[in-house]
Amino acid sequence: MPVQGNTIDFDSARVKLGHGSTQQRRNGKPAATFQNTQRNLMQNLQTSLELDRVLQVFFSALQDLLLIDSLEYRHTSVTTPLLFGQPGLHRCSYRMSHAGNYLGELQLSRQTRFAEDELLSIEGLLATLMFPLRNALLYREALACALNDTLTGAGNRLALNQNLERDIRSSKRSGQPLSLMVLDVDHFKSVNDRYGHAYGDEALKAMVDCVTATLRNVDCLYRLGGEEFVVLLNNTDAEACHLVAERIRQSIEELQFQIDGQPLPMTASLGHATLRSQDDARSLLDRADQRMYQAKRNGRNQVIGTE
Ligand code: GH3
Ligand code: MG
Ligand code: MG
Repeated sequence: MPVQGNTIDFDSARVKLGHGSTQQRRNGKPAATFQNTQRNLMQNLQTSLELDRVLQVFFSALQDLLLIDSLEYRHTSVTTPLLFGQPGLHRCSYRMSHAGNYLGELQLSRQTRFAEDELLSIEGLLATLMFPLRNALLYREALACALNDTLTGAGNRLALNQNLERDIRSSKRSGQPLSLMVLDVDHFKSVNDRYGHAYGDEALKAMVDCVTATLRNVDCLYRLGGEEFVVLLNNTDAEACHLVAERIRQSIEELQFQIDGQPLPMTASLGHATLRSQDDARSLLDRADQRMYQAKRNGRNQVIGTE
């Protein structure tokens, strides 16, 4: 397949702003000039800090000026690449940085070759993208810190409060069931007492990875505090929630976590509850919590979903 590739290490600090105008005709209309496009882009990039939106604005600006079919963006902190449009045969890629800070990789594509002056226009617009892109990445990072537990990477209490309120409203509106489970690790204090807090932390992280691996992408795990967690399951009734809880319980029991080559058996007790019409966030969480304590009293390493 004939693929044109231009891969450039792009550092905005090295690019001169104020590129000359591009004279093309698109769909019978004169193409926008570089200066106009750049001015509009500058204004539109002010309107959002969301990474998706910033890239969408940039893509639209490029399309005003040139024929571009797709834009793909990758960054180590973005799990799936962000793709706008339909990829074509010819590509040009930029590994972007600003003053030594890595800002991700951007790939543009289309069906015809990129000409040299078009690449210059692209680079001119990329220079305009740099600061808004850096700010959008910083904003993402700040949001992730505000909403995630730093030890385990699970959502934190603030994230749970926000998402639970939102999901309760949406479940009541749509009539779709909403369930949640509360999970507490069994006899976790003895792990710390025997092996020390640092190993306890490692065991908690391994347990969170194990639970996350058993969940659908849409289901979220939150750390309530200590070694107590909540899983929020949209569109899930009590019966389905029970199956998921049982799968989680089993996967923790089978998790072969080791400390200094010695296996450390771990189990957890789980309680779950499904939203009722009179419930709010507090009553739903309380019901699941009470059932988790019931599971503890019944002998631990089990799931309880009804009184
Ligand atoms: P139970 O089966 O009744 O839940 O017993 P437990 O020992 O797990 O319960 P308890 O609530 O008495 O103790 C929880 C312990 O979890 C207390 C603390 O030592 C430990 N813990 C809580 N947060 C962390 C943490 O971030 N790291 C580590 N290493 N340990 C933690
Ligand atoms: Mg515990
Ligand atoms: Mg506890």
